Amino acid sequence: MSAINIEHLTVSYQKNTENLPVLSDVSLAVPSGTVCAVIGPSGCGKSTMLKVAAGLIKDYKGQVTVGGRPLDTRSMTIGFMPQSYGLLPWRTVAENIRLGRKVMGLWQESDEERLKELASRLGLEGLLERYPHELSGGQQQRVSLARVFLLQPDILLMDEPFSALDAITREEMQDVFRELWQQESITTILVTHYVEEALYLGGQIAVMGGDGKISELLDNPAGDTPLRRSDERFFQLGRQLRQKLKPQQPGRGGEGL
Ligand code: ADP
Repeated sequence: MSAINIEHLTVSYQKNTENLPVLSDVSLAVPSGTVCAVIGPSGCGKSTMLKVAAGLIKDYKGQVTVGGRPLDTRSMTIGFMPQSYGLLPWRTVAENIRLGRKVMGLWQESDEERLKELASRLGLEGLLERYPHELSGGQQQRVSLARVFLLQPDILLMDEPFSALDAITREEMQDVFRELWQQESITTILVTHYVEEALYLGGQIAVMGGDGKISELLDNPAGDTPLRRSDERFFQLGRQLRQKLKPQQPGRGGEGL
């Protein structure tokens, strides 16, 4: 388990000769063994911040450390879950689950036992020889979760992992994630645009505005124990969070949040 520290992060994209600023002096500290949910309107730079932490964007100003050491993808194991699940269509479910550890050169024969255990906990045991296109969205997401938890990364970065799922499956997958996460407690940044998801999964909630900055950092009063979705406090916090998000997205009326 490693804390993630992002300090004074500034990122711009270059388009032709134009400089497009996206993140401006963003700092975020995610304590070891916690989940930080990052929420904000589309286009505010959430994925960009995640890609920096994943080592995918290298051109930035500021500092990113993992477990107190400067980010280095060669000596650290970083779990990255993209929106689209990141499964290879020509590989079976079992091969896709093994892939994370194999790519990192960490695969050992003894991992096969853990793979089976994870597959059974995720209800994938009968699907291991199938290909991704033979699975539902929720099942594909389970494969992606199995892969990232089998990897046992130092940190976990999730980019709107449940957004392509229908509402019922999304809530089911949030529960599956919580259950797996509670055993491993991997330091996690979870990007989402759903208020409920941020409240349900985030120990901390960072609100990003359209100005490329974090406008607010909230401690989830429920801490590590999830607030039940039917809890009155869940509704109240949801209302508060929507209120904080509103001024930064005029005209959108909180759609999708
Ligand atoms: P979010 O995840 O909050 O939706 P992103 O980090 O994906 O936001 O994008 C932030 C801004 O940067 C957006 O305006 C987007 O169009 C722009 N952007 C993202 N990736 C690139 C890129 N590779 N080149 C140029 N602009 C980009």
